[in-house]
Amino acid sequence: MFRQLFDPVSCTYTYLLADERSREAIIIDPVLEKIELYGQLINELGIKLLYTLDTHTHADHVTASGKLGQQFHCEVTTGERSKALHVTLRLKDGETLKLGELTLTSMYTPGHTDDCYSYLCNDRVFTGDTLLIRGTGRTDFQSGDSIAQYDSLFNKLLKLPEHTYVYPAHDYKGMTMSTIGEEIRYNPRLQVSSPEEYAEIMDNLNLARPKMMDVAVPANLQSGLINETHEA
Ligand code: FE
Repeated sequence: MFRQLFDPVSCTYTYLLADERSREAIIIDPVLEKIELYGQLINELGIKLLYTLDTHTHADHVTASGKLGQQFHCEVTTGERSKALHVTLRLKDGETLKLGELTLTSMYTPGHTDDCYSYLCNDRVFTGDTLLIRGTGRTDFQSGDSIAQYDSLFNKLLKLPEHTYVYPAHDYKGMTMSTIGEEIRYNPRLQVSSPEEYAEIMDNLNLARPKMMDVAVPANLQSGLINETHEA
């Protein structure tokens, strides 16, 4: 079972993935403002939320992970490099999660931030902000590193079979999914022949700071549980 959900404010994709037989489910990159919708869908589909998972510390929206963890008594999961509080399970590179017969494998893919992980589930890969559709996640804040991102892309994600479906954490143009083969051929940022050439592109994007950054990053370092720890 698979649902792709969209938050139009931050252009974030959230994924709900469940094993058909056991009904065990995971939610990837949930957005705090959408928490009621997730609860509704989880009830309607009759699935059991075992895990929330953030691909990295987001700068553009607050995660619903901490709240969902309280509501559904599920594991609040991140990659091991995340510094967020209230996380109950931290996955190392290559570590797996089980949902009935489904297996999710963690891949450490730093570059956009130093705590970015991608997650592979059969023929799908959830790439967070490492690989976007016809783009890649910016590398100019939160310990971003364009050379590390080149390595994550070219030596990890793009080595997956070309038919692997790519599901990113964002899209700003209306695309919903892609494949590794499609990105190898048509992603303009990937048409480079060296890490230095890639870094040259990434270091000259001149992007504005994310509007939500000063709110979102501190909140996400608390897994979105801002009310509990808020100081006047
Ligand atoms: Fe991000």
